[in-house]
Amino acid sequence: MSSQNTLPSYLNPLELGPWATYLEQVERVLPHLGRLSVWADTLRRPKRCLIVDVPIHMDDGTVRHFEGYRVQHNVSRGPGKGGVRYHPGVTLSEVMALAGWMTVKNAALNLPYGGAKGGIRVDPKQLSLSELERMTRRYTSEIGIIIGPDRDIPAPDVNTNERVMAWMMDTYSMNVGSTSPGVVTGKPLSLGGSLGRRDATGRGCFVVAREAMLRLGMEMKGARVALQGFGNVGNAAARVLHEQGARIVAIQDVAGTIYKPSGIDPHALGKFLAAGTGTLLDFPGIECISNDKFWEVECEILLPAALENQITAENAGRIRARLIVEGANGPTTPQAEDILLARGAIILPDVLANAGGVTVSYFEWVQNASSFFWTEADINARLDRALSEAFRAIWDLAQERRLPLRTAAFVIACTRVLEARELRGLYP
Ligand code: NAD
Repeated sequence: MSSQNTLPSYLNPLELGPWATYLEQVERVLPHLGRLSVWADTLRRPKRCLIVDVPIHMDDGTVRHFEGYRVQHNVSRGPGKGGVRYHPGVTLSEVMALAGWMTVKNAALNLPYGGAKGGIRVDPKQLSLSELERMTRRYTSEIGIIIGPDRDIPAPDVNTNERVMAWMMDTYSMNVGSTSPGVVTGKPLSLGGSLGRRDATGRGCFVVAREAMLRLGMEMKGARVALQGFGNVGNAAARVLHEQGARIVAIQDVAGTIYKPSGIDPHALGKFLAAGTGTLLDFPGIECISNDKFWEVECEILLPAALENQITAENAGRIRARLIVEGANGPTTPQAEDILLARGAIILPDVLANAGGVTVSYFEWVQNASSFFWTEADINARLDRALSEAFRAIWDLAQERRLPLRTAAFVIACTRVLEARELRGLYP
């Protein structure tokens, strides 16, 4: 792959992980960018990667060190924007890929942001609440030198939530000496969070699925959905799809996979899990199936909403769904995508399908800047409009140029990013 020649020296080509998927997606768009492709290395190289040591006192009096990252992939179109992930599998190359996808996503939606992402290599379930708070605050202080409401704005991602955002906002505010709500999004409502933000990513998955189904002549009522991940994204997507008449027939999370052909009620499942009396597998009235069988479940919609690299060359051939809605970032490898496209499946790519979260994060940031707050109905209507319009532009380009939807989304987004790059020029 030609991009190997331009790999930053700090990455081992054998351990590229999701960054390899991102690079391959970039390679696929370059032939469609015309003269702007001379700027391709802008996409292949993150602008800035910060690796920080995060030492904290544990409750037992010992000191532990965690590895933290903040990557600003591109800031040509505005401040960096992207979530923070707490997971034992976090690596620099993963955070780079997630930051690269944020650049593309924000540009695909025409949000005035670049792309960024952060993470800590930690299993947060092993930490007490006060350890989690100390780790979050130390990490925020360490990355404080590059974040800010006009520089780079973090948000929740896997294993982070409103509470973590509140600690981040408070730590940054204490360090700069004034309350700065706009430094993070996905905050609690009482700290300047936005109505509609909690469900925004999942709601967005529904909006793009609805738009695709309209064009494909598929019925939402009774459509069967197989869902991987029942966290922030999966839970909200399941509830909205269920309310609109779809049937959630299978759900997989870290605990395992459940199946119920007549449909799982996501509201009841959410309440059951929140009660803390059992895992997904203990939910009444379901059948437990193997994680591997999940991929073969008969369904119209497959909605991966967990982690990267879940749909691979190994399982893609067994997937039955006509529509794949990428709630997660990077769930499909390029090889798996080729297999799915060859049999006529439609993949709604992550940079569109899960863009509802960052779109409402943008609304939150705008509300913070003006200290004027909108109604939930207004936010949901604006979200629906933003995603429907982005969908239409991507769909129409894909039809016109006979491109996969991901490549079409990358064409629109990368054109915007590279035009900005070219117009700004190189300084000095
Ligand atoms: P979350 O931590 O709230 O939930 C993650 C879910 O995935 C949990 O249900 C967990 O059990 C499940 N999971 C984890 N590992 C798994 C595995 N190996 N197999 C099956 N299930 C597994 O995270 P989230 O915020 O819902 O994020 C999920 C995905 O959506 C990530 O790819 C994230 O980057 C992406 N995303 C999130 C947002 C957001 O607003 N939170 C926005 C855009 C994209």
